[in-house]
Amino acid sequence: MDPDVIVSGAGPAGAFAAVLLARAGVRVTLIDRETFPRHKLCGDTLNPGGLALLRRHRLHEPIEQHGLPLDGMLVTGESGVRISGTYGPGLVGRAWCRSALDQQLLHAAASAGAEVRTGVLVQEPYLSHAAGRVGGVRLKTGDGRSEVLRARWTIAADGRRSRLALALGLIRQPAQPRRWAIGTYASGVSELGTLGEMHVRRGHYIGVAPAAGGAANLCLVTADRAGLHDPAGRLWAALH
Ligand SMILES: Cc1cc2nc3c(=O)[nH]c(=O)nc-3n(C[C@H](O)[C@H](O)[C@H](O)COP(=O)(O)OP(=O)(O)OC[C@H]3O[C@@H](n4cnc5c(N)ncnc54)[C@H](O)[C@@H]3O)c2cc1C
Repeated sequence: MDPDVIVSGAGPAGAFAAVLLARAGVRVTLIDRETFPRHKLCGDTLNPGGLALLRRHRLHEPIEQHGLPLDGMLVTGESGVRISGTYGPGLVGRAWCRSALDQQLLHAAASAGAEVRTGVLVQEPYLSHAAGRVGGVRLKTGDGRSEVLRARWTIAADGRRSRLALALGLIRQPAQPRRWAIGTYASGVSELGTLGEMHVRRGHYIGVAPAAGGAANLCLVTADRAGLHDPAGRLWAALH
């Protein structure tokens, strides 16, 4: 039987939507091209607003149990400026591995009754000309088969470069500005506290957040792709 709703993309947006729909009794199919757990470049931090949303929908336990507490953010600039802000009394964020968060949300969607299909690429919207609207999606399965999956509603949660939204002209990818990001987990980073950090410099910024086991999550976001073939070297150069 066709689902009522197809959700393309099982990142936080898609998996969360699938959880809520499935809990409400809607037949939902959640699709992702990746198999989980999958790595996703991320600073691994969740602010108190995000946590509150998870709590409201009883999805907060793993992150509150395993995540490291974050009290706010520190932002520094080139001229030595440092601005720190805390979330406020009683408010706390968490640092937790992003792949674990995404997998947890995917499991929650499946537990709520969503059909989860991973390793399946959503190629484009399926346009139902009779109905004059999107009637589902065209898929490519892991073994290379093409398939049309029909549904009354389709949610494009397939990220910033959403194939569905692009195909429907709902978004455009501007040529500029472009940004590239790399990241790693590093040990031996001193002075890690309970603030997430963002160090803004000319042409790039570096995010730092505490990670499990005393490590630090380091992400570099840059407007200059030079040197990215050697990510460790590029990150090291940016840090010095
Ligand atoms: C370097 C960096 C650091 C960041 N750090 C943080 C942070 O610390 N805290 C924070 O809150 N946010 C952070 N963000 C932002 C955060 O990653 C995004 O806001 C978030 O991932 C958006 O979630 P989403 O579900 O909309 O999309 P995504 O997480 O991008 O998920 C989209 C999903 O769709 C799937 N998909 C895509 N195309 C297809 C297709 N054609 N067919 C099937 N599946 C498809 C992908 O595999 C993916 O699983 C960071 C971003 C970057 C770049």
